[in-house]
Amino acid sequence: MIQTIGLSKTFHDAEVLKNIDLRVAKSEIVVLLGPSGSGKSTLLRCLNGLEELSGGVVEVNGIRVDAAMKSREKHAKFREIRRQTGMVFQQFNLYPHKTALGNVIESLLIVKKMPREQAVQVGEQLLERVGLADKKDAFPSRLSGGQQQRVAIARALAMEPAIMLFDEPTSALDPELVGEVLDVMRQLAKEGMTMVVVTHEMKFARQVANRIVFMDGGSIVEEAEPAAFFREPQTERARRFLNQLS
Ligand code: ADP
Ligand code: MG
Repeated sequence: MIQTIGLSKTFHDAEVLKNIDLRVAKSEIVVLLGPSGSGKSTLLRCLNGLEELSGGVVEVNGIRVDAAMKSREKHAKFREIRRQTGMVFQQFNLYPHKTALGNVIESLLIVKKMPREQAVQVGEQLLERVGLADKKDAFPSRLSGGQQQRVAIARALAMEPAIMLFDEPTSALDPELVGEVLDVMRQLAKEGMTMVVVTHEMKFARQVANRIVFMDGGSIVEEAEPAAFFREPQTERARRFLNQLS
């Protein structure tokens, strides 16, 4: 579902991603771990074209973008990729002047040009799916952080993405609100969604991931099944990372 070949990303003179080869199969859950600044967010952003590629290839659901392509062609391909990719960030970025339902159906109305009545129906189902059917008329300011993030997930799901990318979706939340967001993500995983998740929630990583990809200094340093990774990391850098957490 996702493949990168020799992906590199340079900001000014700093090589932030170095020769990244990542493959994610359909319905696979990959958790990206690594210290701050190791390139996790940049990698996610390169997968859907929020960053320009400096080198290499990104392929998502059969759509292939080569850094060497003409700029216009790359942009067109990434537009296609973004239509099939939902992304959820640490900051929820909901429209403050729209209700929960309004936020969820925005893309259905604007991008899919769905009639409002039908969009509302779909939107209500999506809110139901994230446990917020009763909050459809609430504005973001009246929702908790956990509820806002669940609205953001419902909004991303509205486009029926083939892939969901999560960048520290619970890092801005009070601890007691983390669980409700992770539960929605667990449910998605169970339903067979292909997911790449950057998170510091190690229990989630251990329980839900099919594979851990550990990054440091812009490279993939280690890849393993969660049980093996947490029991016996193979590299000194991963060991140090895990030791600092506990
Ligand atoms: P992580 O998500 O693992 O914390 P990031 O992908 O955010 O790491 O950042 C990796 C490196 O790239 C860091 O050194 C960061 O300072 C740098 N970086 C990220 N975005 C930019 C940018 N827009 N301009 C310059 N440097 C950036
Ligand atoms: Mg980050």
